[in-house]
Amino acid sequence: MAQQERKIVEFSRPNNKKKTSFRNEISIPDEVLKRISEKGKQYGIETIRPFTVDNFELAEWVGLKCRYGCSQFGTNWSCPPATPGLAKARAIISEYSLALLLVGTHKWTNFYVNNNKKRSEQVRYWKGTVSLERQLFLDGYDKAFSLVSGACALCKECAYPEACRFPTEKRPTIESLSIDVIGTLKNLGIDTTVAKDPKELFKYYAVILLV
Ligand code: SF4
Repeated sequence: MAQQERKIVEFSRPNNKKKTSFRNEISIPDEVLKRISEKGKQYGIETIRPFTVDNFELAEWVGLKCRYGCSQFGTNWSCPPATPGLAKARAIISEYSLALLLVGTHKWTNFYVNNNKKRSEQVRYWKGTVSLERQLFLDGYDKAFSLVSGACALCKECAYPEACRFPTEKRPTIESLSIDVIGTLKNLGIDTTVAKDPKELFKYYAVILLV
């Protein structure tokens, strides 16, 4: 595990010059990581882990899962077909080198039940992710962009296809960019399983594309 982390995480030492952009660095200074990790905890984000984008798994079949079998398809701005297709997703990711994986644990189990408790927890993670993206942008990571988990639940019912009510908070889900989340986690050495029992706790995963 230690070897795996050495492979995917490169920390650079901060220097004394004030930076305005980190575009040429394929790393995140440890003091920036520490600061956003502290902020993330306020939103329930337990860990933040940098990784290189070659660990992403993208595949056409991910889009099939959205198109057939998911009730959010064609009903939410954060999901297909409102989001970029596979070719565009590959092009977007090719413009980055480093990303951050954000991990939390849903305290409200029963993933089959949609209710206010579940929604408020999801909204908390969502707002936390976008808030960290904003902080990173202000820190000089001008390309920072969030891919969130679960269809946007900021409104009880999404306005799609009418105009989004909170466009500054709107972001695509990870899967909507044809990213195979489980395959990507495996590439990162994270052994995750699909929760089968509604009483099981399950994880929140989000990504911030960084530089
Ligand atoms: S903010 Fe509201 S309208 Fe916009 S994507 Fe989210 S749920 Fe839909």
